[in-house]
Amino acid sequence: MVNFKMSNFIIAPSILSSDFLHLGDVLQTCKSAGADWIHVDVMDGHFVPNLTMGPFIVQHCRRGTNLPLDVHLMVENPESLLEAFAEAGASHLTVHVETCPHLHRTIEDIKALGCQAGVTLNPGTPAASIFQVLPYVDLVLVMSVDPGFSGGTYIPEMVGKVAEIRHELDRIGSSAWLEVDGGISPETLPEMRAAGATAFVSATSVFKHPDGIAAGIASLAGAG
Ligand code: ZN
Repeated sequence: MVNFKMSNFIIAPSILSSDFLHLGDVLQTCKSAGADWIHVDVMDGHFVPNLTMGPFIVQHCRRGTNLPLDVHLMVENPESLLEAFAEAGASHLTVHVETCPHLHRTIEDIKALGCQAGVTLNPGTPAASIFQVLPYVDLVLVMSVDPGFSGGTYIPEMVGKVAEIRHELDRIGSSAWLEVDGGISPETLPEMRAAGATAFVSATSVFKHPDGIAAGIASLAGAG
């Protein structure tokens, strides 16, 4: 496949907004349009109100693409599911600080399963709540909407949180990805990128673009 994307940041379409009847085609189109990762939003109906997908879907995504699968666990007790998602083919496993009383141990468990370890935090959770584990993670995900549904309202104050975490990552010499999730569009991507984000999750801007998935990815790639 030819990759037409010229940008030097990561675009991770969230399949939460995609057409599951044609998941294989969706994954192929994402890759040929220049997507870097496939973002999988796992919701348990407890930590967040919505109920979405489990390891079964990740397994199918793994069969459908060789792009990294960026799995975001919006679930209580994520520790109990790590192995199942790793076996299903997850490349990155990202857990919420709000759900992990033993966050450092959980991060080490993810790495022991052969996955890249990510930590994420809700809009109401201060940046400093993850500073102690930053030396151990491969990825930090900043929620720029309240998690639970695709198409949530972008919270502009999260630009400042991204900048705060970027500053801390640079201070400790970390090369972890700094990813943002929620309301990312050609309009919001540039300010998040300027604040130091390096990876961008997008559902609506990719899968609800009037001209299709490839046009959606191209509009994000061109925005940076
Ligand atoms: Zn997500």
